[in-house]
Amino acid sequence: PLVLGIETSCDETGIGIVRGRTLLSNTIASSMDEHARYGGVVPEVAARAHLEALQPSIDAALAEAGVGLADLDAVAVTSGPGLAGALMVGVGAAKGLAVALDKPLYAVNHLVGHIAADILTADSEPLEYPTIALLVSGGHTSLLHVRDLTTDVELLGETMDDAAGEAFDKVARLLSLPYPGGPEIDRAAVDGDPNAIRFPRGLSRASDLAKHRYDFSFSGLKTAVARWVEKCEADGVEVPVADVAASFREAVVDVLVTKALAACADLGVPRLLLGGGVIANRRLRDVALERAAAAGVTVRIPPLSLCTDNGAMIAALAAELISSGKQPSTLAFGADSTLPVTEIQVAEAVTV
Ligand code: ATP
Ligand code: MG
Ligand code: FE
Repeated sequence: PLVLGIETSCDETGIGIVRGRTLLSNTIASSMDEHARYGGVVPEVAARAHLEALQPSIDAALAEAGVGLADLDAVAVTSGPGLAGALMVGVGAAKGLAVALDKPLYAVNHLVGHIAADILTADSEPLEYPTIALLVSGGHTSLLHVRDLTTDVELLGETMDDAAGEAFDKVARLLSLPYPGGPEIDRAAVDGDPNAIRFPRGLSRASDLAKHRYDFSFSGLKTAVARWVEKCEADGVEVPVADVAASFREAVVDVLVTKALAACADLGVPRLLLGGGVIANRRLRDVALERAAAAGVTVRIPPLSLCTDNGAMIAALAAELISSGKQPSTLAFGADSTLPVTEIQVAEAVTV
């Protein structure tokens, strides 16, 4: 099926068009620059930017795919989770488009969309089930057990406080580096020693593991970096930015990879899929590939343009739902900022 997907859960206005498992276009307009001076995504600013970017993005995606609105078999949209106001813009647009064109509408889960991104990865074998998925971005840090993309996704664990990307952004700020912090910390860490400072690995003590084996926490790590910086200032010594950046990054990467591979081992699943904007981190990819190989786990990493928020992954998930016989969503859905990952599709019509 030819599907147009709309993604507006955070600061990317993503419009993607797929034909089945083939990617035709993937237009992404980001309002990141507008959030830079606030050091994080401002919901109202993001929602407004979506409103402005939607129509031109849809036009651009159609032109690039070489198709017209009338050719579409379905429209897909992210219903949640994400920022409520931002989601509402996409949901409203998708409903309007589907009703005006008289096309079926599929309202889907953003996190499951991140997994669906893998399907569009050209020239690769189809995703095998079950698989463990680690999704890390500015808004989420989730470990999932995927038994079937369209029917069975289980949340194993998630962050109890900051998302991993958010931790990069906050620590960059502590080091007086600009937003977004991920790429800045990466750059600063190049000349640093990852073992210079032993920063805490959240929820990794035996006592924590009993209850939070697959959960993450990055606020203690952020506080530890803040204390380190304060101590340098109190002592009148220059903050060793490269060492702090490298050591902080190592702590985040270590805990992400350790917990993801623990899930693979515990559940006997020798496959790990990575997704989300933090996957841009070279060190994270290297450590994941290295330790997974040692553990006999194969790792899949979609290209970065499909790892960050985008509309193509939303269209791809809808195309899979259609192929597996799911009915379209009724219009009885809205933006759901806390949509659980188990709700892969929202408001599926009941056939009688
Ligand atoms: P969502 O959470 O809804 O997926 P988002 O906009 O918060 O959306 P992305 O756009 O996928 O997330 O990713 C942005 C985040 O990724 C930012 O927090 C940024 O600091 C982080 N990031 C980007 N590049 C890197 C990198 N090289 N290393 C670590 N983090 C990175
Ligand atoms: Mg983003
Ligand atoms: Fe996302």
